[in-house]
Amino acid sequence: MDILGTRIDLLNLQESMSRIFQALAAGKKLWIVTANPELIYRGAKDKKLQAIISSADLILPDGIGVVWAARLFGAKKAERVTGIDLTLKILEEGQQYGWRIFLLGSKPGIAKKAVCKLSQKYPAIDFAYHHGYFSPEEEAAVLEKIESFAPHILLVGLGAPKQEYWNAAYKGLAPIRIGVGGTIDVLSGEVKRAPQFFRAHNLEWFYRLISQPARIRRQIVLPLYVLQVLKQRYFS
Ligand code: UDP
Repeated sequence: MDILGTRIDLLNLQESMSRIFQALAAGKKLWIVTANPELIYRGAKDKKLQAIISSADLILPDGIGVVWAARLFGAKKAERVTGIDLTLKILEEGQQYGWRIFLLGSKPGIAKKAVCKLSQKYPAIDFAYHHGYFSPEEEAAVLEKIESFAPHILLVGLGAPKQEYWNAAYKGLAPIRIGVGGTIDVLSGEVKRAPQFFRAHNLEWFYRLISQPARIRRQIVLPLYVLQVLKQRYFS
């Protein structure tokens, strides 16, 4: 499925999880992008970024705006796979298989807080972390920390598209690398996920907007995204 020039792989959560297991079993690397409308729109304007995203192994539909577009183009069964949902599933499985999971990203103190919480809930998982505000000079030390930990799963929460540039640049860092946006903030408890009502009615974006009004500048691209998708559907 192509949405504004970005390939979207229409897998659901379970199928995405199967791909992770397959990659781990086969000793293959898997880089996952969770693509929301903002990233897709940005890619449509920035072909270099779009080419980088397209080189990912899996590009999942993150957000109702992507699912809506996919359905408009005929994929009636398209489902949303968000970074946080995929991460929660990974934690569940990681607890069973004793995975090593590295959290990279979020403000200093937040990833640490997330790992403290997660270690209690998932004691069989071995966690390590680093915040996402390191300087170019500190990057080598961050890479070294991840390499020596040798995680099965590297969750990169540096925000889009920074996390995509990171995962594209460091393909050898971990078997499974996933750009997860603000997931570490949610895991730490610093940011609340939308209540069930908003999630059930596909209004998570609206909840984020009212609870974090500073996001308005980012969400301003959403109507532009909708217009471009309609243009692709009906005029091209
Ligand atoms: N972030 C980071 N380093 C940076 C910029 C951002 O670690 O240089 C983190 C930020 O603290 C937040 C996440 O990246 O935890 C981005 O969250 P957001 O909800 O904006 O994610 P998106 O919607 O972009 O996926």
